Amino acid sequence: MPEPVSPLDQAGLERAAAEAIAAAATAASLDELATQRRYWTGDQSVIVQANRAIKSLPGADRAQAGKNLGAVKARIWAAFDARRETLDALASEQRLAGEAVDVTLPAVRRPPGARHPLELMQERIADVFTAMGWTIAEGPELEAEWFNFDALNFGPDHPARQMQDTFFTNPPDRGLVLRTHTSPVQARVLLASGVPCYVAVPGKTFRTDELDATHTPVFHQVEGLAVDRHLTMAHLRGTLDHLAQAMFGGEALTRLRPSFFPFTEPSAEMDLLCFACQGKNPSCRTCGGSGWIEWGGCGMVDPHVLIACGVDPVEYQGFAFGMGIERTLMFRNGVADMHDMVEGDARFSLNWGVEI
Ligand SMILES: [Zn+2]
Repeated sequence: MPEPVSPLDQAGLERAAAEAIAAAATAASLDELATQRRYWTGDQSVIVQANRAIKSLPGADRAQAGKNLGAVKARIWAAFDARRETLDALASEQRLAGEAVDVTLPAVRRPPGARHPLELMQERIADVFTAMGWTIAEGPELEAEWFNFDALNFGPDHPARQMQDTFFTNPPDRGLVLRTHTSPVQARVLLASGVPCYVAVPGKTFRTDELDATHTPVFHQVEGLAVDRHLTMAHLRGTLDHLAQAMFGGEALTRLRPSFFPFTEPSAEMDLLCFACQGKNPSCRTCGGSGWIEWGGCGMVDPHVLIACGVDPVEYQGFAFGMGIERTLMFRNGVADMHDMVEGDARFSLNWGVEI
């Protein structure tokens, strides 16, 4: 506590005032100012104590002491008020400066994600089929061996059942595999919904391939199945040409080459007339100069498959086809390396222009 000053000690009061005014003027913050203000104007301060002492003075001195002290008090109080205004203004200026937005600064741009082209391609193919009145079906990726092989006429010794192609799961006697194609969904749909049946099945499939430029252990297929009375290879051919034209333009053509699959008879490989050169450029990079691009497999549904699915093969016929989505994307959009499709880099996907 400061030494008390008599209300009659004009010099002492002036010294206190000078000190108080200096303290007010040099307070660097509102907090510091409040502390100084309590010290110099609070109940225990020199000035207030002196003011209190006036009443014990002889009557003749009181008026003069009151006048002097009043003037000193007014200067001190005014100094604190003035400093407070200055500091308030400063604080508000700083706040405004902190809140200011510089509209000329470059915006913070977070790279957006993008729909993956494999998804977009599957949706595009599904759209072609729904427009023809087909339904879209999905099946489990962890599939019963019976649906994946037996129902589709794969004999017990078929090489596709070997460990080098198929992901088997433990315990082996549970009979579950990661489906090696989307074809088991054919059997599921026929068993669940019966005939007539027009269904397209896009989905993920698995084989024990190493990831390299043209292989990936997880890939996608689209499968088509139609079962009805009086269906022939001509219907299959017409459907494939329609799909080819929807995907590659009005000039697109397909051709079929004899082949073999356990679940179709007869079976065919399906080729697409090269959409880049129409078979006219021997050095075409898209088709390698052959004029045709291998696109998928197809055929008439084998009667054994129809029987396994509870359909009478005398009354009903069916056709089925399937193609790889990755492969379609590779030759349709010039994707040279499978790694680009599995790495999930938005810069790759953004080329298809669908940001999210
Ligand atoms: Zn070509």
